[in-house]
Amino acid sequence: MNREKYSRQILFPPIGAEGQDKLLESRAVILGCGALGTAQANALTRAGVGTLRIVDRDFVEESNLQRQILFDEADARERLPKAIAAARKLNQINSEVKVEGVVEDVDNRNIEKLVSGFQVVLDATDNFEARYLLNEAAVKHGLPWIYGAVVASYGMTMTILPERTACLACLFPAAPEGAHETCDTVGVIGPAVSWVAAIQVTEALKILLGRRQELHGTMLAYDIWKNQLQEIRPRQDPQCRVCGAREFAYLNRTGPTHTSLCGRDSVQIHAAAARQLDLADLRIRLEPFGRVRANEFLLVFAVDAYELTVFSDGRAIVKGTHDPAVARSVYAKYIGA
Ligand SMILES: [Zn+2]
Repeated sequence: MNREKYSRQILFPPIGAEGQDKLLESRAVILGCGALGTAQANALTRAGVGTLRIVDRDFVEESNLQRQILFDEADARERLPKAIAAARKLNQINSEVKVEGVVEDVDNRNIEKLVSGFQVVLDATDNFEARYLLNEAAVKHGLPWIYGAVVASYGMTMTILPERTACLACLFPAAPEGAHETCDTVGVIGPAVSWVAAIQVTEALKILLGRRQELHGTMLAYDIWKNQLQEIRPRQDPQCRVCGAREFAYLNRTGPTHTSLCGRDSVQIHAAAARQLDLADLRIRLEPFGRVRANEFLLVFAVDAYELTVFSDGRAIVKGTHDPAVARSVYAKYIGA
């Protein structure tokens, strides 16, 4: 084994040679591969965490490059799925790490399968619903996970050890109502992402090394622009619907959500049932109606004021509207219901 690669962190006593061997045998999964996910994946790959799975539903766009550190202009031009572009880059950074890029939207039908067999989950999602889902899956299976969220210059993180610490629902019993600030409305700066990811990765390393007594044990919030730090020690709520009553409302919800908002001016359409689209065939069918571009993972179809990005499993992102009904009808018209 090539130890030279890791010599500087082997010198760090809490890791050492034994810890490095442990990391190389470890398995971590990252949900989301935007700003937080690319920063986490970069650090874990360089640290030699042996197996890494990265799950993301989206493709690389130019507006990502300011903060999503694994992507470049060519990825955006080719519209590569983020999970694929990240996995390719990570293989060049450290070929010893087994990186698996999964192009899927995390939902209640697949989350348990996606996190099963891993020792820790790093949250790099961008919405409350996905985090509640992750929290429930983690509590159900006793899996540690590390919450992280960033908007503008402000970020938050907390490490959740089921049955040992508070869970996300102990702290936030319900998602905030109405519109709340997102990176699509108020922006985000790279350094705010970096600190959250740095803490999440440090906590993940402690968990993988079996050094749970060294976890920070708080809910940390920091505004890196204003230099305002808040720290609270969350308490487990015995009445918590998730870790107390073990009611998994998000996980057990019946009926798939057919659409979801996905950034500003976009709606995601979930295929009602699993289907396999032949993208080459679809391309020929759509070409008379508008401009079509494709790579081996997805197809982009521009028609009227809309742009549809269609994945081979039937999922699509419709840009040019925030109205689910409009998006569904555009989808039905060109891709088929
Ligand atoms: Zn709880």
